[in-house]
Amino acid sequence: MALDASHSLFAADALLPMGWARNVLVQWNGEGHICAVTADTAAPEGAPVASGPLLPGMPNLHSHAFQRAFAGLTEYRGESQDSFWSWRNLMYRFAARITPESLEAIATWLYVEMLEAGYTSVCEFHYVHHDHDGTPYADDATLSLALLRAAQRAGIGITLLPVLYQTSGFGAKPPRADQARFIRSTDNMLSLLERLAPAAQAQGAVLGLAPHSLRAVPPDSLAAAVQGLTALNAQAPIHIHIAEQTQEVDDCVAWSGQRPVQWLLEHAPVDERWCLVHATHMTPQEYQDAARTGAVAGICPTTEANLGDGIFDMPLWLQHGGRWGVGSDSHACVNAAEELQMLEYSQRLSRRQRNVLASAAQPDVATAMTLQAVSGGAQAAGRAVGGLAVGQQADLVVLDTRHVALRDLPAHSMLSAHVFGSHRTSALGSLWVAGVCRVSDGRHVLHDAAAQAFVAARSATIARN
Ligand SMILES: [Zn+2]
Repeated sequence: MALDASHSLFAADALLPMGWARNVLVQWNGEGHICAVTADTAAPEGAPVASGPLLPGMPNLHSHAFQRAFAGLTEYRGESQDSFWSWRNLMYRFAARITPESLEAIATWLYVEMLEAGYTSVCEFHYVHHDHDGTPYADDATLSLALLRAAQRAGIGITLLPVLYQTSGFGAKPPRADQARFIRSTDNMLSLLERLAPAAQAQGAVLGLAPHSLRAVPPDSLAAAVQGLTALNAQAPIHIHIAEQTQEVDDCVAWSGQRPVQWLLEHAPVDERWCLVHATHMTPQEYQDAARTGAVAGICPTTEANLGDGIFDMPLWLQHGGRWGVGSDSHACVNAAEELQMLEYSQRLSRRQRNVLASAAQPDVATAMTLQAVSGGAQAAGRAVGGLAVGQQADLVVLDTRHVALRDLPAHSMLSAHVFGSHRTSALGSLWVAGVCRVSDGRHVLHDAAAQAFVAARSATIARN
């Protein structure tokens, strides 16, 4: 194959799906898909050479973009015992003030931050659909289109998952007044997906569906929505919040006699298309049954810590062959490496062991976690973003070997130092999405402009009544 210098990158060390390889040439086509990965080769004349170890870009499998502007604003005691639910009340007050313009500005900056922190694609779990009083916008797709535009401007890959939200609790409790912006009928949701399809296709985005949770979507609606989505696209991803909170588990048992995951597996066609977001509170039987469906567990370690959700039992999930990826969810933290660090540390703290998520095949814990999270994240995204292999998108990350935490270390130790030792300063050098360079020297070209627009949008949102 003739070398096209603008569609290739040579790296002395690269993390391929089977592990670290030496002297690797990656080549991609005009659509940004990898067409050749050659290890143990000499750098061809004219090929750009990566200045550090080459990693696959990380898919971010769970995001509520507007919540980025809310980070840091709930870290004070309101009730004598604050919880997820008291946080949610504050979050709803913030959501009530979002406008199409502020959402686009917040999401654009968030996506720039994601790219600068190692994420090359995002699954946007999008539930604020309507105007402040719940009236649909003149163009009913206004807020969804704002998110697609933000992703396109920043240059991040996107799986847009419009959220179906209909009730405020199990047993079809009517929605609360502060949920009016989220509510759509099932038919209306399916029309929205059809309306969005051309815009999504034009930018290589994938459309899926997110039934918000079992408390927000009654059984009939869940069945009809999944069926309707499948008729539109039999491969479209389906994401659902499940078993995040013990209160939700108790309410589900009171309603149905079953726990949420147990109920879902018995009443919905859960398979590889599904992403079970959080799935924090499962019995050993639920771990086994859910893992065997092939669904991805969507773990959001820093948000789950921030909200006091609980700890996912990853070793048990892996024991049953479970697949997983990471999401930044509420965006209290936007950094792929920190999510991996928090995930491993939560396991260490609860088990009083070290290097819990390493495996016999891959003893280096940062390497093992990165490969699994990229593969699971790609599955959840429903996009070809599963690593440095032929047919996958050229989503590439090069670590910054000039960073003090990494300098002069061997390549696999650099990834460990990036995940466990770069102490919240980015050790990321450059990043490509679909073969297009979006970050160089750790910075995105829109960094300053997007940050400024974000701060203005946040201030306006806080001030709005
Ligand atoms: Zn969420």
